This record gives sequence, structure tokens and C-alpha cells, in this order.
Amino acid sequence: MDITKLSTPCFILDEQDIVENITEFQEALSGFFSKNIVGYSVKTNSLPYVLEIARKQGCYAEVVSFHEYKLAVKVGFPKEHIIYNGPMKSKETFLDAIQHRAIVNIETWREIEWLEELPFIGQTYEVGIRLNIDISTISPEDEDHPNDDSRFGFSYESGEFKVALHRLSILQYVEVVGVHSHREPKTRSVRFYRRVVEYVQEIILSCNFKLKYWDLGGGFFGRMPNKPTYAEYVKNIFSVLSPKLRDTMFIVEPGNAIVASGFHYLMKVIDVKQHNENIYVSTDGSRNDVDPFFHKSDYFKEFIYENQNGNPSRYPQIVGGFTCLEYDRLFSLPVGERELNVGDYIIFHRVGAYTMSLTPLFIHYFPIVYLNTSQGNLCVIREEWTEEDFIRKSKF
Ligand SMILES: *Cc1c(COP(=O)(O)O)cnc(C)c1O
Repeated sequence: MDITKLSTPCFILDEQDIVENITEFQEALSGFFSKNIVGYSVKTNSLPYVLEIARKQGCYAEVVSFHEYKLAVKVGFPKEHIIYNGPMKSKETFLDAIQHRAIVNIETWREIEWLEELPFIGQTYEVGIRLNIDISTISPEDEDHPNDDSRFGFSYESGEFKVALHRLSILQYVEVVGVHSHREPKTRSVRFYRRVVEYVQEIILSCNFKLKYWDLGGGFFGRMPNKPTYAEYVKNIFSVLSPKLRDTMFIVEPGNAIVASGFHYLMKVIDVKQHNENIYVSTDGSRNDVDPFFHKSDYFKEFIYENQNGNPSRYPQIVGGFTCLEYDRLFSLPVGERELNVGDYIIFHRVGAYTMSLTPLFIHYFPIVYLNTSQGNLCVIREEWTEEDFIRKSKF
């Protein structure tokens, strides 16, 4: 790949990498579960081309808002291959989804009310229900902070899960056939998933369920050295699963595990200044694009220098982005590291998850996205957004 031909800043999508991630996860599941689904978490990276890869590889689309529901339909997912989660369902898309046999997991009381209002016309509907997962209680070693509870799902301990089930069971045209137990632990540890399975299955076995599917959610690591593999997750989940539940359709909703490794971000050095015993390197990229939460301490990054030879820097180099925000600083290089010069490139790897979908339209609009095809050819799959795209639908 000749990066000097690319306009910067840009994302580069590696198609083969995403295909392999999906295939490996599917194979890991199929090794244990005769019925299984990989539902790709659309919010993690909703670039239409990524959704198309996921669809072609046999994934379902896991969506968490009415916009995402409509997006998934638009890019070609059949409605029965959509998993509809979260509190941001509209009534219209909620009813559309249950009528078209999407997998719908109830998250709010209003969805139950929408079902209660339905006229009984002979048709029956199947739904799942989301269970609240409190990490601090279930697996304290995996908590991010004390009382790492969740604002999602119905709590078993408070009694609301049973109330919700009861209200649904009164409706003769509604059948609860699934349970959803997504929770993303900071540690992404295998131990956490074992404990979630143990916790949830006790509840499932104690309630009177005719369970068709169990949707465990996402939160897994992607393929990375020294991290659990998809196969390790699945094997451990299966090993603690009650034999009574092993024939259940098993669903996972990975986002990060599918897309993180398939994206790179390329930026170029546009200016170098020196003052106060520091060197300030300006680039045409932004931290908004590679670390929108501003919490990374380092990146998987590489430098591509314009000249073959370079000098060690006499001062620390502070590498910043194009925005006029002081805090848009990507990283610093200590004294003695090779000097960066105008025209050098910095490439960030593994930046596919929660980056493009969180990029603000601040100063610079969405960057161009290139596809690196399985054959090694480069093509544009999203043009750079311009001011024309930005003002669409605005009146002035
Ligand atoms: C965000 C989310 C996921 C995906 O989480 P990852 O950490 O990206 O794997 C899956 N399911 C639900 C309900 C989510 O909200």
C-alpha cells in the first residue's frame, strides 16, 4: 500500500481483517452451540461498508436506536436479521420490528405499554427482555469503580424483572422467548462472562421461561496477543452453562472485537515550532478521530518518514492535532527520539471501534475513508465531507 497517494487525514479499512474476525467468532461459537448468531453492534462503527461486510458474512445487525434500525434496513439487512435493543426505540419501529420477527429485547416500561395497547388480531409476537447486570455484585474483580451497577435492563433483585415478565405473560398474544444480558466490563475478562452466565442462568431456571434464545451481548476483546481469544470466551461460557440451556440459540453482539483491528488512521505533519524547550508538532489529524474519549495513554502507532535519515530531537516533541483546542494533543516523544518533520506521516492502527461513530463535526468534517481490498487495492468508500454536506438541511 503506497500511502503517499492518500489524502490525509484518512481512515483505511482492511476488509480482510474484518472478514477474518467475523469468521473466527462464528467458528468459535459453532464449535459449541448448534444454534448461534453473531450480531454486529452497529454503533461501534456504523460505516455502511462495514455493515455490508457484516451482512455478507452472515451477521445480524444489532441496533440501539430507531435511526440505527432504519440504517440497517437501508443497507440491506432483512428485518428478521436485526436485533433491536436499547431505550431509544420509537414506537413505530418497535412495532415494525416485532411484526417482522426481528429479535427485540425489551428495555423500557413504555415498550411493555406499547404491547399492552395492541389490539388482539390473532397474530402473536415474540420478544426478549433485558436483565440488569451489576458488575460489583456479580464479579467485583471486574468492576471499574465501587458500585459499578448499570442503568440498563430490569433488575431481578428489585423485583422489576418479575413484574415486567408478569405484565408480558398476561398478554396472550405476546411470548417472552429471550433474555438479554449485555454488560461490558472494563477488564473484558473471561471470568466476568463465566459469572454472568452463572448469574443469569439461575434466574432463567427459576422463572417460568420457554427460552428460545440467550443474547449475551458484547464487550469482548478482538484478536490481540496475550488477550483471550474468541474460542476461549466461548469455551468458558459453554463450560459453566447448565446442560438444560445448551440447546438454546446463543447470541453474541460483538462490536469492538470485530472492527477495532480493521481500521488505521493516517495523518501528516504540517508544521513544527519550538519554544520553552519543547517542540510542537502540528498534524492534519485530530485526537478526536483516534481517541474520542481522550483516555488512551498510548496508541498502536508507526512513523513513516519522508527522508531516510533523521536526527534525534534535542527537546521533547509534543504532537498535536489540527483543531484549535489546546487539549487536542495526541502524544509526546521524549528527548532523543527521532525528529518529526513536515511531510512525515503518523499511522495509528486498531482505531476502528468507537472512533468514526463518535467523531464530532468540529472545524473539519468527516475524513475520507479508503478501503484496502482483500486483493490489496485501494479505493474510496466514503468521500471527505465538505461544507456542502455540513449545511444540508440547514436554513440560512
Ligand atoms: C455497545 C453494545 C454492544 C457492543 O459492545 P462492544 O464492547 O463494542 O463489543 C453490544 N450490545 C449492546 C446492547 C451494546 O449497547
